[in-house]
Amino acid sequence: MHALRKSMVGIRMDEEIPLAILDTLRVTRDDFEAALSNVEPSAMREVLVEIPEVTWDDVGGLEDIKAELTEAVEWPLKYPEVFERLGTRPPSGILLFGPPGTGKTMLAKAVANESECNFISIKGPELLSKWVGESEKGIRDIFRKARQAAPSIIFFDEIDALLPRRGGSYEGSSHVTESVVSQILTELDGLEELNNVTILGATNRPDMLDDAMMRPGRFDRAVYVPPPPDKDSRKKIFAVYMGRDESVLAGDVNTGALVDATEGYVGADIEALIREAKLNAMREFITAMAKKNETERSDALANVRVTKKHFETAMKNVKATLDQEAIEKNERLAWGIIYHEEERSVLEKAGSTLTRAGFGHQDNAAVQEARKKLRSATFGKMKKNFSAIKEQTNALEQLLES
Ligand code: ADP
Repeated sequence: MHALRKSMVGIRMDEEIPLAILDTLRVTRDDFEAALSNVEPSAMREVLVEIPEVTWDDVGGLEDIKAELTEAVEWPLKYPEVFERLGTRPPSGILLFGPPGTGKTMLAKAVANESECNFISIKGPELLSKWVGESEKGIRDIFRKARQAAPSIIFFDEIDALLPRRGGSYEGSSHVTESVVSQILTELDGLEELNNVTILGATNRPDMLDDAMMRPGRFDRAVYVPPPPDKDSRKKIFAVYMGRDESVLAGDVNTGALVDATEGYVGADIEALIREAKLNAMREFITAMAKKNETERSDALANVRVTKKHFETAMKNVKATLDQEAIEKNERLAWGIIYHEEERSVLEKAGSTLTRAGFGHQDNAAVQEARKKLRSATFGKMKKNFSAIKEQTNALEQLLES
C-alpha cells in the first residue's frame, strides 16, 4: 500500500493507468520500513500490552525497592552476558507484597517503563471470571503474548486469587485453581531459558499463596512494600503530587507540617489528601466564578491557590486507611516470607509478649514504657535489630512476671 500510494501521485483515478507507471511499481525497503512503523504485532494490538508512563520519579520514596527491581528486571535484559559468565540466573518471578495502596502496581509499571519493557497487566480475579472454565487457556494466551512482545513483564495483580493455598478458604473453586496453578507452573518452567519475560506478582495476602509458588524457579524473590511510608518517603510522595505545580499553593501551606501530620498514611492516602484539598479549592473557585464574565474568570484562574484551610478540611475527610492494628497485622503476615526461622521466632515471641502486655497493665507505667519500646522495635522499622528485640522482649516478660 505504501509503494502504491507513492506511485499514485499525479495519477487520475478515472483514467487507465499507463503501463510505464505500472512497470515501475516496486516494493522497496523504504516501504517496508514505513509499514513497520504503522503495523504493530497483533499481540500489541490487544488492550493488554502497553509501555506504562509511570517512571521512578513518579514513585515517592521506596528507594531500596526500586534498586531491587532494577537488579531483578533491568539487569538481566541489559547484561545477560554477566549472568552467563557468572553462571547464575535472574529470579524467575518477583512477588511484591504489602498492604493496599502502598505503590505495588505503580512500582511494577515503573520498572517496565524504565527497562523499556512491554507490560501486560492481569488482575487475578478478573482472569478467573473472564475465562470461566478455561482459565488455563487464558494463562497460555497471556504467556504467548508476553513472548511475542518480549522483552516484557507480566504483572499479576491480586495473584493470591490465582494461586491460593491448596485446601485453604478458596476451596470452593479449588478444581479451577488447581489447573490454573499447574498451568502457571508449566509456563514458568518454560520461561526459564528466556531472560526477557519477567513475571511480577502483587498481593496483599502473602499468607494466602500456595507454598509451591515460592520455590526456586518460580516466585523466587519476594519484595516487601512496607506500610506506612516513613517521614522521608512521605516527603517524597508529597513532592510527587505537589511539586509539579507549586505555584498553585498558597504561601500559608506548610508541606513540612503536612508531612508530620500524615503519619500512618500510605501513598494512596497522601495522593487522595492532595486531590481532596485541590478539589476544595476548585469548589470555592467555581462557585465564586459563576457570575463573572470570561475575562474576569481567566484573570482569577491565574491566581487560584490551594490554601492551608483547604488542606485542613481535606485532613478531616481523608484519613489513613490503615490503623496501627492493621499495620501490625500486615507485618505479621509478611514475616513468614521475609525472615528465616530464627528471626521469625524472635519476632513471634515479641508479638505474643506484646499481646500479653496489652491486657490489664494500663496503669503500670513501666510495662507501658517497655511495651512501647518493644513495639516500635518489632514493627516500626524495616531493618530490624533482632538482638535488641530479644532483649526487650525478655525485659518486658520480666516486668509482666513481677
Ligand atoms: P497497590 O498496588 O500497592 O495497592 P497502587 O500502586 O495501586 O497500590 O497505588 C495506588 C495509588 O496510590 C497509586 O495510583 C498512586 O497514585 C498512589 N501511591 C501509592 N504509593 C505511592 C508512592 N510511593 N508514590 C506516589 N504515589 C503513590
